[in-house]
Amino acid sequence: MLVTLKELVQLAYKSDYAVPAFNIHTYEDAVAIVKGAEEMKSPVILMASPSAIKHLGIKVAACIMNELAQNAVVPVVSHLDHATDLDIIFKAMKVGFSSVMYDGSNLSFEENVQNTKLVVRVARAFGVSVEAEIGRVGKSEEGEEVIQILTEPDAASRFFELTQVDALAVAVGTAHGMQKQEAQINFERVEEIQNVVDVPLVLHGSSGVPDEDLTKISKMRFGKINIGTVLKTVYVDRIRKVLQEQPQLKDQIRLLQEASIAVTEMVKHKIKLLNSSGRM
Ligand SMILES: [Zn+2]
Repeated sequence: MLVTLKELVQLAYKSDYAVPAFNIHTYEDAVAIVKGAEEMKSPVILMASPSAIKHLGIKVAACIMNELAQNAVVPVVSHLDHATDLDIIFKAMKVGFSSVMYDGSNLSFEENVQNTKLVVRVARAFGVSVEAEIGRVGKSEEGEEVIQILTEPDAASRFFELTQVDALAVAVGTAHGMQKQEAQINFERVEEIQNVVDVPLVLHGSSGVPDEDLTKISKMRFGKINIGTVLKTVYVDRIRKVLQEQPQLKDQIRLLQEASIAVTEMVKHKIKLLNSSGRM
């Protein structure tokens, strides 16, 4: 069933689990993610990043996610990830996303607050949830250096008071696009933030977080854990392997079905670490 982000994270953030949020890029990986969540009886958040929106188109992305959500036996959120453009945000609400992330982390505090407030106001009318970001999660992918700015607890507190978002992304040591699980989470900073702001937190760049830290984080006040990069990696790795083993293969459906198996396996592994199985 299709649900909002707010419903899921409200339940999770004060409990000993977090809801996994996975990036989709194609129809096949979206199906594979929902399959993994259903097999684990876990709620799940499907996210369309700017590159997925560029690839699929915003309407097709919404259609894929909402169709899968409506037919799923677990709660599924259709979420717009990292939108910096207000037009895209409002378009997403119109085409049926149940949740949006407005990313004003590259703006001044005041501008970020101002735009986020507007997004929240419109989203309330549509019954859509809103995530925003304070501080800035860095990026480790080649060619796109984005400097990390750790979230200041006071800024997080003021930001939430002013905007009343449903979930708040914080920068506490992770980075987007990490191929290795070598992120060093600043747990001291997490606690400082938790002590002053009572809102479900969101961790971005979680592919780079070591397994034990992912479990530790899921028991803190995080409601949503974003995982993208590792699914891209296992998807493409499996395609590479199948083509090496079966160079005569001519059927792309079989190729993508094999890749989907790898995605489902990784989704189930992450769900186990986040302790979200059986929480539907
Ligand atoms: Zn992110």
